[in-house]
Amino acid sequence: MTSTVHLPSRDIKIVDRSDVVVVGGGPAGISAAVSAARNGAKVTLLERYPYVGGLAAGGMVLVLDDMTNGTEITVRGICTEIIDRMAKRGLCIVPDEKDRTIEFRDTPAAWQKWARLGLFDFHTPSMPHPICYSAAFDPDGFKQASYDMLTEAGVKIRLHSWFSSAVVEDGVIKGVICQTKAGLEATMGDIVIDTTGDLDVAASAGVASSQADFILTTVSRWGGVDTDAAERFEREEPEKFKLLDHEAKRMIGGCWSFWWLKTPLPGIVWLNCPHMPKLSGLKVEDLTAAELEGRARIARLLEFARQQMPGFENAYVVDFAPQTGVRQTRMLEGSYVVTKDDINSRRHFDDTVCRGRDYYTPYRAMLPKNVDQLIVAGRHYSATPQAQKSSREIPPCMAMGEAAGVAAVVALNAGVTARQADIKEIQRRMRDQGADPGDVPSANAAHQEAAE
Ligand SMILES: Cc1cc2nc3c(=O)[nH]c(=O)nc-3n(C[C@H](O)[C@H](O)[C@H](O)COP(=O)(O)OP(=O)(O)OC[C@H]3O[C@@H](n4cnc5c(N)ncnc54)[C@H](O)[C@@H]3O)c2cc1C
Repeated sequence: MTSTVHLPSRDIKIVDRSDVVVVGGGPAGISAAVSAARNGAKVTLLERYPYVGGLAAGGMVLVLDDMTNGTEITVRGICTEIIDRMAKRGLCIVPDEKDRTIEFRDTPAAWQKWARLGLFDFHTPSMPHPICYSAAFDPDGFKQASYDMLTEAGVKIRLHSWFSSAVVEDGVIKGVICQTKAGLEATMGDIVIDTTGDLDVAASAGVASSQADFILTTVSRWGGVDTDAAERFEREEPEKFKLLDHEAKRMIGGCWSFWWLKTPLPGIVWLNCPHMPKLSGLKVEDLTAAELEGRARIARLLEFARQQMPGFENAYVVDFAPQTGVRQTRMLEGSYVVTKDDINSRRHFDDTVCRGRDYYTPYRAMLPKNVDQLIVAGRHYSATPQAQKSSREIPPCMAMGEAAGVAAVVALNAGVTARQADIKEIQRRMRDQGADPGDVPSANAAHQEAAE
């Protein structure tokens, strides 16, 4: 048996043409599409799954964090808009402003009130971690708010469209081809934004990239949990709690400090575990192994919790996330590669177009070196693996998507390439639409570096 087959080349039907084509309907892609459309572009959003939201919906990652440096809310714009929209429906919880004040935020009372929702700054080493601006939300709430924003902005959404290859001519991306139930379909665009999280489009277009594997996780939700009883037990019988919690963590085989967190739905908790290292989010074999192994570990944990842990006597699995929890795979090696030192020193760049909690993202980190009209936004942006680990949360990815959408329109309006988009104009538009482009560094930012 030969190890390859040859596919004959063939003509692919063009099903759509837009000014801006966004590939990947996760947090970054939704923001990119909404942002570009609100700035006047004709936009098509392509998504492989039957829903938008990416890891924030199908991945059931249910806390939005990394949005504040302790004094300012640094990620705003579309991200805070989605929070407000979900909150109006009772599907999102944010700590009250008075509980986020310097006087209260790191008191035991603040911890007791908000910690089990995951609404604290885990980057602060002191315990208890300070309670901060962040949001616990419902995955379907995220989906619906996203659909509302996308449709209101006039974005054409094409679900069930699995990107398979980029159409590149003379170093310029012209469109993308998706595998669908109807066969291969081409969507053409003047600018393409890759928000697949795994750099699928840019990699297919032949851009330089690096690759690393972080832990995989099969997130699940449990119902029937008496969270009041569970929290009371933790508070009133700390020694017994510690022993049981330790045993639960041993069974999980890798998790953060809280293996379960409350959600806006009473009695429903989410489990951001187990951690499964040394598996690649790009390999079918590893993704399949993660699904089976993750389910088995959670099944054993549920049995244990039901028998041993106060509050969990009647717990049951509501669902496993339909989308495997993949944190890191391919990353762009773009015109600038953000390093861990950039993040830690809060290095500010002249071409900063968005920011995370207290770090700044230069536009160059969203641009491939060798392909034009392609912008990259989200967890696969141009960063070292170590830098990406601490700059990949949902809100900064949304901010990056928002900036990418703006940048595409700025370039198209000026009749220049995406690479030549006017930085000041991107920053101005970002600010006008309520986002923080990070153009004005906070007092604690490190030295400025001139943009190339
Ligand atoms: C288990 C886990 C826990 C996490 N915990 C937190 C947390 O508590 N708080 C937080 O803020 N962040 C957390 N993160 C990080 C965060 O979820 C991601 O970094 C963030 O969602 C990245 O957004 P994105 O839009 O770049 O990518 P994604 O959310 O991965 O979205 C990518 C989108 O592109 C689509 N797509 C991919 N390939 C294709 C293709 N070939 N064709 C068409 N569509 C495609 C996907 O279906 C998806 O909709 C966690 C991540 C994981 C995995």
